[in-house]
Formats: sequence, structure tokens, C-alpha cells
Amino acid sequence: MKFRPITLLGIPWDDHSSYMQGPALAPPKIRTAFACPSSNQWTESGIDLGQKGIIQDAGDLVLEGEPDPLTKIQTRVTELLDHNTPLFCLGGDHAVTYPVVKAVAQKYDHLNILHFDAHPDLYDSLDNDRFSHACPFARIMETGRIHRLVQVGIRCMNGHQKEQAEKFGVEVHEMKDWQGPPKFSFDGPLYISFDMDALDPAFAPGVSHWEPGGLGIRDVLAVIHNLTAKNIVGADLVEYNPVQDLSGLTAMTAAKIMKELMGKIVDG
Ligand code: MN
Ligand code: MN
Repeated sequence: MKFRPITLLGIPWDDHSSYMQGPALAPPKIRTAFACPSSNQWTESGIDLGQKGIIQDAGDLVLEGEPDPLTKIQTRVTELLDHNTPLFCLGGDHAVTYPVVKAVAQKYDHLNILHFDAHPDLYDSLDNDRFSHACPFARIMETGRIHRLVQVGIRCMNGHQKEQAEKFGVEVHEMKDWQGPPKFSFDGPLYISFDMDALDPAFAPGVSHWEPGGLGIRDVLAVIHNLTAKNIVGADLVEYNPVQDLSGLTAMTAAKIMKELMGKIVDG
């Protein structure tokens, strides 16, 4: 079997975290967990991501100096998308997703987004910061270039974000209505954004915001495996916070989810 290659990019940036720093330390920890000999690099669907050439590692972005990080991220992502391979970004906090998706949506019309998170991240502004990790999907929807935004795992909806969700036509699947893993289907290009706090903190304590009542790991894997999408053009995995992790367990969970997401993407 032949699979398309995928580009990996680390974005070690957490300047816009509202509560706690730490996600900037995540990319090397997740890479190490992914390569850890305690497991192997075969996806559950039977793809060996360890085979030569399938993961093309572009390293971690250097964000110090000029221009500003938002510009640097968007520029680098645009360059990497020119290779016409799907892109997988390791955050960083969720603020990385706005510049990444801005670049992806410029290349791909009618982009769809599947967003796993405890939080809708639709604040117009939080703590006077319009680029806060609580705001990326407001900025993304304001571009007017997104066909559908589907959110799953949500359990922190409030009045303001509910208004924002209605204004932008976001399809929100809240945990209070959970009846087992939904089967999502997307026409056209798809981007997947995975915030680690979508998982219940019992499964993934290595995040900045512990929000009980979340998804189990098997639930997440079922959503990924059951997903119908012809062309997944990019993804990110964000908000892993090594400072909060116990014995590197959440890093292994992040690496497992990265592996299964990548398996779905390269099989397209
Ligand atoms: Mn988030
Ligand atoms: Mn979150």
C-alpha cells in the first residue's frame, strides 16, 4: 500500500495562554513520546508511520526576533503547503491555530474544520487580548473563508460564546448531549484542530485547564476512525502542557492521538 507523505511542524508558542504557561515546551516532548520504544509507530488501521519518507519533519519554528510570531507562523505554513502534502502542527497553545488556518484557508477554498475542545474558543476578546488562546475560532470565522466549523467535546459554553457560535453558524456538539461518538462527514477539504483538554482530565491531566466531564481516549479515537472526509489537508494538536503532566503520561496520549490522526490523513 502507498500512502501520501505528511509534513510535521512544531510551533513552540504559548504567549497568549490566559491562565498558565507550558504548552511552548510541548513539541519535543510529543516527538519523544511518539518515538518511544515502549510502543511502535503502527496506527490501529494498519499503517506504519515509521516507514521512510512518510513523515517529513520540518522541525520547530524559531519565533524569537522579527517579524512577529503570527506573521512567522502564517508565512512558514504557506511555504510548507506549497509542497502539496498535508501539514500536521504541534503546538503550542490554541493561539497557534489562527495563523495556521489563515494560511490553509488561503490555499483551500470552502475549508471545513473539525475542532475537538472542552472550550468553544470563540471569545471576541479575553483579558483585552484578541489573539488569546480563547479566541482563535472567532478570528478564523471572521475571515469568511470557512465553509463549516464543527466542534466536539464542548462543556464550557457561556452566554457570549453562545452568541458568537450563533453569529458564525458553528455546529456545536456539547458533552451534555453526548450519546456516543458521532459519525462526521465532510465534503471538500478538512482541517482538524485537536485541543488536548477535549479529553477528560482523568485521561489527560497534562493540560492547562482541567475541565472534568470530557471525552475518553477511546471516544476520540472512534470519532477519528469513523470520520468520512475525502481530503484532510491539515491538522494541529495543541495545549499539551508538560508542566502539568504526570510521568509523561499525557505526552504518550498526545502521541497516540497524533498517530491515529496522521494515519487517517495519509490514507486519504
Ligand atoms: Mn482550545
Ligand atoms: Mn480547551
